[in-house]
Amino acid sequence: MRYYLQEGNPIGKNQQGIKEFMERFGKFLTTTEDYKVRQIIDTTVSYIKSSSTIKQMYNAKIQFYRWDGTNDRLTCKICRSMDGRIFKTENAVKLLEKIENSDPSKLPEIKPFILKPQKGKSDTIKSIFAPAHPNCRCRMQAHFDDKSINTTVSRPDKVEVNDLQKELEEEFNNLSNQERINRIKSHLSATWVAKTQGGQFDFDKEHLKDHYKKHKKKFNFLTLDEYVKQSYEVIKNPENVYVQKHKKYISDKKTIKTTKYIFEKDRKIVVVNDDNLVITSYHKLYDEYTDYLDRFVRTKNGEKDKSENQQGNGQQNIPEEIGIIKIL
Ligand SMILES: [Zn+2]
Repeated sequence: MRYYLQEGNPIGKNQQGIKEFMERFGKFLTTTEDYKVRQIIDTTVSYIKSSSTIKQMYNAKIQFYRWDGTNDRLTCKICRSMDGRIFKTENAVKLLEKIENSDPSKLPEIKPFILKPQKGKSDTIKSIFAPAHPNCRCRMQAHFDDKSINTTVSRPDKVEVNDLQKELEEEFNNLSNQERINRIKSHLSATWVAKTQGGQFDFDKEHLKDHYKKHKKKFNFLTLDEYVKQSYEVIKNPENVYVQKHKKYISDKKTIKTTKYIFEKDRKIVVVNDDNLVITSYHKLYDEYTDYLDRFVRTKNGEKDKSENQQGNGQQNIPEEIGIIKIL
């Protein structure tokens, strides 16, 4: 194993190294079904992949790279919080050198696993490339600036300033414009149908069908396929993007926090759960609202909402705190 770590780029050009590595060790592992060892190997492979990518980018004089959280239903909250962050290739090379020149037992100090979602600025993060934790599937990608979009972090008028609101604003102010663009873009890989870890928020085909049935009239009888397709058009080219944080009180001590992205275009609204990149709704605003924000403020102030009876399964009575920002 030392050979693979020391050489740095055995996988080099065509990932031959990884193939070779897995051929030699992979089979052995599946037959013994040793999950722990498997995890160590997967984590090591992730490290080798990152290290090789970083060295290649450095040689190619690519100055910055982007953390790609893979962005599917299996992506954990930690990796979602790393997704889209931008780091200097040079800093990663320095960290690699430090790792390679020190005793393996020092690794947890030099490049610790990331144990909770990161909300601070990217330059305060120690572990600047994958793996973030065991079984991390994140990838590092070359980054080139995209100055075409200007994001903001603005607090809409008439919004209650609670702790959650402040936390949300701070979290997004800690991201650079480009990092916020990357976060928005990552929602292009959101899905309608997904099973999540632990099954806490499962979205099956019935969920999609229910929403389609509920909203199709407002869309002039789209087919289900068109309904899905159009929802992505809104995510692809939104007029406004909001981020909403919800804190639900399950009991006195227990709370659940979720983050939602709201995409708005031509009075059409797509809601994506950011924690697992699942689309939870696509609907049209009712005529009485000028835009999503108008609806947000009015329903928050106790007006009955017609556009989207969000939960519809008796969860409305759970006390909830909400924060919202407009980022595009
Ligand atoms: Zn990861």
